[in-house]
Amino acid sequence: PRLINQIAAGEIIERPASMLKELVENALDAGATSIDIEVDNAGVKRLKITDNGHGILRQDLAMALSRHATSKIHDLDDLEQIATLGFRGEALPSIASVTRMSIQSREQDADQAWLVSSDGNNITTDPQPIAHPVGTTIETRDLFYNTPARRKFLRTDTTEFKHLDQVVRRMALSRFDVAFKLSHNGRVVMHLPAVPADDPRRLKMVCGDNVPENSVYFDEQREDMRLSGWAGLPSFSRSQADMQYFFLNGRLIRDKTVVHAIRLGYQDVLFHGRHPVYVLYLEMDPARVDVNVHPTKHEVRFRESGQVHSFVFRTLQAVMSRSAG
Ligand code: ADP
Ligand code: MG
Repeated sequence: PRLINQIAAGEIIERPASMLKELVENALDAGATSIDIEVDNAGVKRLKITDNGHGILRQDLAMALSRHATSKIHDLDDLEQIATLGFRGEALPSIASVTRMSIQSREQDADQAWLVSSDGNNITTDPQPIAHPVGTTIETRDLFYNTPARRKFLRTDTTEFKHLDQVVRRMALSRFDVAFKLSHNGRVVMHLPAVPADDPRRLKMVCGDNVPENSVYFDEQREDMRLSGWAGLPSFSRSQADMQYFFLNGRLIRDKTVVHAIRLGYQDVLFHGRHPVYVLYLEMDPARVDVNVHPTKHEVRFRESGQVHSFVFRTLQAVMSRSAG
């Protein structure tokens, strides 16, 4: 199982940032409202994430480290309508196979927290009692210490940290209602309190100067689809092509249909060659989307992409004409 997990880890875990993405997704899936991340040497030496989610039961702790142990999918119907960010049960065993890892967790109804640790060789300790509030702390050390070939692909701490920072920013944009804190080598580098979805402070703290002055918040619902978020026009002085985020049911996606619909919605107000600036959230019945395409690629398949296209296009067109007029 160790080898299989290491092979799977190659698909999912390329660098500290991909590890962090999986761990933050798990915290969000557990209903956390506060996520605290500490890293040393860009997460290669040490990465620690603490959440206040519902925690893991003692009997599930050791199992979470073995392959395909997911609590999120129970039958084929669940697979047809995935409402969680994770669903394959691959992340923890993959991470465990390429790091020295420990998990401390207290389940919400348990009267005690438990600790398990593993050393990358799938040697996992029996749960030990430990003091920890409701929620989970996962700590990894020495990423790829046992797979030197992969360690060689790691870049400088500066580069790896940039990737980590990107992950935290994306996650922070996906959930304004969750507080995030990021510390690097003992210094707090990002501290984002939870705010309401329409509060521009989170947007400013995450995207800084990339947020155009003219950005407007909107929230439109039609039948079973809801599109909300921030849309703005790029300034003339600078390129803001990188501020384009589209979240589908909390998951950042890249989709041709969506990109096309957005461009079309902007077409009356966008000068030639400029890029729209947006942070958008589409919510719809998970049964109408297939997210089961690839574990890390941000791809989805809409069952009725025509409906999604016209809803996104029409909504943005209306928002743009309102804000222009
Ligand atoms: P998946 O997210 O695909 O279910 P993972 O390997 O990421 O698989 O996690 C395995 C399981 O461990 C999850 O299904 C969940 O039950 C549990 N788990 C992992 N992280 C957390 C967490 N932070 N809080 C609560 N449960 C967690
Ligand atoms: Mg997961």
